Amino acid sequence: MIKDLLPKVQMVKNYSNSFVVELNNSCILIDCGMDKKAKEILKIIEKTGKELKAVLITHGHLDHINGLAKIKEKFPDALVVSSQEDKLAVEGKEVLLPKGIKGFFFRMLIPLVKSKGVKVDETFRENYAQLKVIKTPGHTKGSVSFLLSGKTKVLFCGDLILNPNKLSLPPEDFNWNKQKMVESIEKISKLDFDCLLPGHGEAIAKDAKKKVLEFLYELKRKQF
Ligand SMILES: [Zn+2]
Repeated sequence: MIKDLLPKVQMVKNYSNSFVVELNNSCILIDCGMDKKAKEILKIIEKTGKELKAVLITHGHLDHINGLAKIKEKFPDALVVSSQEDKLAVEGKEVLLPKGIKGFFFRMLIPLVKSKGVKVDETFRENYAQLKVIKTPGHTKGSVSFLLSGKTKVLFCGDLILNPNKLSLPPEDFNWNKQKMVESIEKISKLDFDCLLPGHGEAIAKDAKKKVLEFLYELKRKQF
C-alpha cells in the first residue's frame, strides 16, 4: 500500500526501519539500521540511479546508526547529518544505553555491536529539499522527525512512536524522558500529515494524524 501511495519512498525493514527518499535529482537516506542490512540499502540507492546526497539520523541509538560506516564507505560524499545532542553517539564517542538492568546487559554487548563512528558533517538545518526537520526530543535528547511535503504528506517519526501492531511508545528503559515524548507527540499531532513511517514496526498509510491524536489522548488519560 505504501508503495502505491509513495513511489518515491522505499522502506527497508531491518531491526529498525530505514527509508530511501528520492528527491528530484538526488536521494536521501533516513537512518541506517544494522550493519547487516547496509547491502540491501545500497542496492536500493543504486537502483534509483541518483546520487545519495545525505544520511539523516533520527537519533543516536545503535540500531539506527550501526550500518552508517558501510553506507559512507560506498558514498563518501554523502553528508552525515544528526542533531547536536546525539552527535557524539553517531560519531561512536558515546553509546546511548537503556536505563536499569537492560543498560547493564547492553554494556556487555557493546564490543559486539558498537558502531564504527562516522564523523557528523553538519547538525540539522531547518529543511532538506522537501523534508522539514522537526525537533521531537524525548526518546533521546536529540531525537528528530521529518515531514515530507507533496501530494501525500509523510511524517518520519523515528522512535518517538512505534507501530509493532498498534501505536505505542518504545519500552520505558529506552526512553530518555517520557514527559518530553508526550510533548513531542503533541507537537507532531498539530502537523498536517497523511502517512506515518515509524522507526520500528509497520507504516501507517492512511489517517495517520487521526491515529496519532487518538494515541496522544490515551497517553494523556493514563497520565492522570
Ligand atoms: Zn531508539
